[in-house]
Amino acid sequence: MMMIGQGSGTSHDTAIVGAGLAGLAAARSLAAAGQSVKLLEALDFPGGRTRSSALAPGQREVDWGAEWLIPTLHRRMMALAREFDFELEEEDGATVWDVPGLREVARLKDLQALYPNFSAGMSAVQHWFDTPPAEDERNVSIGTLLRRLIPDQVARDLLEVAIYPLTGADPGEVSAAMLRGEIALHGGGLEGTFAPPSARLARTCGGLARALAESLPTGLLETGIRVARIVVEPDGTATAHAAGRSWRARHILLAVPVAALHHIAFDPPITTVGPDTSGRANAGEDVKIWAEIDGPPPPEHLSKRSPLRLAYSWVQDGTTLLCAHALARDIAGHDPATLLAKAFPGNPARRLGLQDWRAEPGFGASWMSARAGHDPAADFAPSFGPIRVIGGDVAPEWVGWMEGALASADAAVAELMS
Ligand SMILES: Cc1cc2nc3c(=O)[nH]c(=O)nc-3n(C[C@H](O)[C@H](O)[C@H](O)COP(=O)(O)OP(=O)(O)OC[C@H]3O[C@@H](n4cnc5c(N)ncnc54)[C@H](O)[C@@H]3O)c2cc1C
Repeated sequence: MMMIGQGSGTSHDTAIVGAGLAGLAAARSLAAAGQSVKLLEALDFPGGRTRSSALAPGQREVDWGAEWLIPTLHRRMMALAREFDFELEEEDGATVWDVPGLREVARLKDLQALYPNFSAGMSAVQHWFDTPPAEDERNVSIGTLLRRLIPDQVARDLLEVAIYPLTGADPGEVSAAMLRGEIALHGGGLEGTFAPPSARLARTCGGLARALAESLPTGLLETGIRVARIVVEPDGTATAHAAGRSWRARHILLAVPVAALHHIAFDPPITTVGPDTSGRANAGEDVKIWAEIDGPPPPEHLSKRSPLRLAYSWVQDGTTLLCAHALARDIAGHDPATLLAKAFPGNPARRLGLQDWRAEPGFGASWMSARAGHDPAADFAPSFGPIRVIGGDVAPEWVGWMEGALASADAAVAELMS
């Protein structure tokens, strides 16, 4: 263990800023390896975009951010779930496909048989994926790509709604390279990408993050500390500053969302970190609405007719919950209760809650959906002297997912311990 500097602040081998899954996992591994570690979190609680809470006292919690994992593919998440004894609940069933000109209740496979133009669109996107990427692909949006590949408007709309759960963003803004990356992660096939064998954690992802936080050595995590400035010192160490306090360390892991990086001042400045780069790199603007509803649980909905683009229900201890996702821009100024009543007239809501991650300065966007023209992993993941950006947004694999946050933490820990 190394102790450096004297000054007014404390000194550590590694200071980590941000106690989401990436910061928590990195802190635990580094502390277990004998390092002196400090984990600083702006909010009063850890977990970041795995926040969970109940809609009403006494009810089980719901996830306001990350919710789904793919047990066959997410080995780090599965290992954590097993370690803390978190059970999985698997999801399966038909989807209501609702776009102008077509409303069909079907599984993805059946929809292809029912609507040949959709099947042709799937083949066109598969062919695009199977051929080497065009040079400008990073600058092309998914919306532009679909217009190039698929002449039929209804088929294009169906593809768009199938892609929404992967992006949580306007298809006109997300990079086509992001879609290519997602298809590759899911094994290279469109069916596995758009209808993966997903599961949620019955005790929520937020619950898992809390369990991870509770497993840390006492005093390692400090909450309510919003780091405002990071200074690289002449001796190559770095100091994180927050409200009159400071933490000096050989290394600083910045485990904060890319869209929140520009709220921290760097001395000397990091050229890629500014409102137009870090602040806009993530096009994700998914808003999540959870409601306790009456009536029979509706099946999954993918819609282009309603601003509620994705919706699914969950029966928990006899209570039926509905989760709806929308783009922040689509529902700005609308009453969420009215939107739900219009989309699900047979399911009156007793109570509801809404989470808009884009509106919180410590997040600035939902999950990572690289904006066309941006490459967050290339722009932000390299080390800047003693500072390294980590997290789900810049992960070496599973970018945008919880699995990516853990993979990024693993990569940073391996580098620091080598
Ligand atoms: C609506 C939504 C749905 C999602 N669905 C899924 C899903 O189904 N499956 C999946 O795998 N992933 C999903 N994700 C993505 C997943 O939540 C993230 O990829 C993952 O949780 C990122 O973890 P992280 O540790 O990198 O960052 P975060 O969880 O964002 O943690 C960053 C932390 O940094 C803190 N912070 C910010 N600024 C400062 C500062 N200046 N000083 C100190 N602390 C600071 C924040 O408060 C936060 O706690 C979803 C995300 C959202 C928003």
